[in-house]
Amino acid sequence: MKEKLYIFDTTLRDGAQTHGVDFNVDEKKILASKLDELGVDYIEGGWPGANSTDTQFFNEKLKFKNSLFTAFGMTKKSGRSAENDPGLASLINADTPSICVVGKTWDFHVDVALGISNEENIDNISQSIQFLSSKNKEVHFDAEHFFDGYKANPDYALQCLKAAVDKGARWIVLCDTNGGTLPHEVEDIVGEVIKLISGKQLGIHAHNDTGNAVANTLAAVRAGVRQVQGTINGLGERCGNANLISLIPTFALKTEYANTFDLSINVNRLDQLTDLSRLLDEMLNRVPNRTAPYVGSSAFAHKGGLHVSAVNKDPKTYEHIDPELIGNRRQIIISEQAGKSNIISRLKSAGITINEDDKTIQKILDQVKEREFNGYSYDGADASFELLVKKVLGEMPKFFEVMNFSVNVKNRGEEGQTVSDAVVKLKVGDEEIIGNGQGVGPVNALDKALRNNFQSGGYSELIKDLSLIDYKVRILNTGTDAITRVSIESSDRNQKSWYTIGVSENIIEASFRALIDSIEYKLMKEKAEPLH
Ligand SMILES: [Zn+2]
Repeated sequence: MKEKLYIFDTTLRDGAQTHGVDFNVDEKKILASKLDELGVDYIEGGWPGANSTDTQFFNEKLKFKNSLFTAFGMTKKSGRSAENDPGLASLINADTPSICVVGKTWDFHVDVALGISNEENIDNISQSIQFLSSKNKEVHFDAEHFFDGYKANPDYALQCLKAAVDKGARWIVLCDTNGGTLPHEVEDIVGEVIKLISGKQLGIHAHNDTGNAVANTLAAVRAGVRQVQGTINGLGERCGNANLISLIPTFALKTEYANTFDLSINVNRLDQLTDLSRLLDEMLNRVPNRTAPYVGSSAFAHKGGLHVSAVNKDPKTYEHIDPELIGNRRQIIISEQAGKSNIISRLKSAGITINEDDKTIQKILDQVKEREFNGYSYDGADASFELLVKKVLGEMPKFFEVMNFSVNVKNRGEEGQTVSDAVVKLKVGDEEIIGNGQGVGPVNALDKALRNNFQSGGYSELIKDLSLIDYKVRILNTGTDAITRVSIESSDRNQKSWYTIGVSENIIEASFRALIDSIEYKLMKEKAEPLH
């Protein structure tokens, strides 16, 4: 009989307390519905009464299919009864089946931050938990600074936990609030707590200040806790919270955990994890972390002939899991060491099949090598690579031809505002079109000029949802001349990014080439018909 391991997501509460993160109600609703679909056990929505967004969010009275909606608050203030505490009243009014209240368990904090006696703090915990339990709520007690508290005064820290258990808390969540505890300490301390409180009632809430939030969570689970708190992408203040995007697949796919625990998350839903991770980045306008475990675009990227030929024989040679299980994909990176096997794999993953002995493969290889000599790098520039191949194969439709372009950068004196004007002349079919665009920078202006061109050229509908997510410039020094390499990450409504590249001695031209590749790739993906 497997034991149940509960997943508690706090992206919308602890994650939202991060510097620079400011979810609105709609964003919270979108994330909550994705988390519900994934099947996490608890979704902590925020702190009703603490700010207008959270209050409004709870006023929506959301109902979930799989998850228990959870409101967060604090134990009652000293000097008033639980019944008369406005904070607890907001929690009850939020009308959720589950409530999480945070309270102090470190005597130092009780003294310095609250300025009350140890007994009074315990009394506040007891009364708050008793009050909430009497309202038929499933109550989580977040034991703030528990690990630091335990190290300073173990008896007192444990008394605080015991008070909450005795008054009916379903869960006691051990928090490493300052994130300084190490895995072996977590394992030892949880081992002590469990002598007093069953692991079936214990949770772990780890912060990542030593880079060990995931490791600490695993240590706590090994020591017996059965509820795990964390956030999507490890979002959270300072160095973040435990990353559920790493923890969930670990629990679901790694034998030791998978054989021991049942998760509410359906294994067939794990393939939503990569999209969920990217969705949050998109919302926060952040560049996805390429090296993120499991879901990063480099997590299953292979470079170098030997690795690639082994992966082709059996992916297990260099992959710890099948990337598709969590919605990621294998990437074969083209590099200067590119051999035929890289090219073949790369073609395969782009859905292009060519016979291994086909002379075209050598042609593609030659082109890649020549371009790399000139400063191109197809590492991760998957879209530009695909375009190159299609052109060599003669399979690339000619959507348009660039006749010429110019960019003018102006500073309007006093106000110091700089604007760029671009003019692009294209040939679409037999027609020549001129487009103008104005933008904050030259690349922005060129982008707009191209889109304006297409407004008269018929492709505009197809590229309407194309957005440029990231723009990177590298200056390569080759002898006396400096060459600029620009890579652009683009995305569209499907949220799958593609990467293009442009190289030139001129930064604007390099950017323009990467931009053109991105648009051509998008038109190809949309199966656009070349205009005549
Ligand atoms: Zn926290």
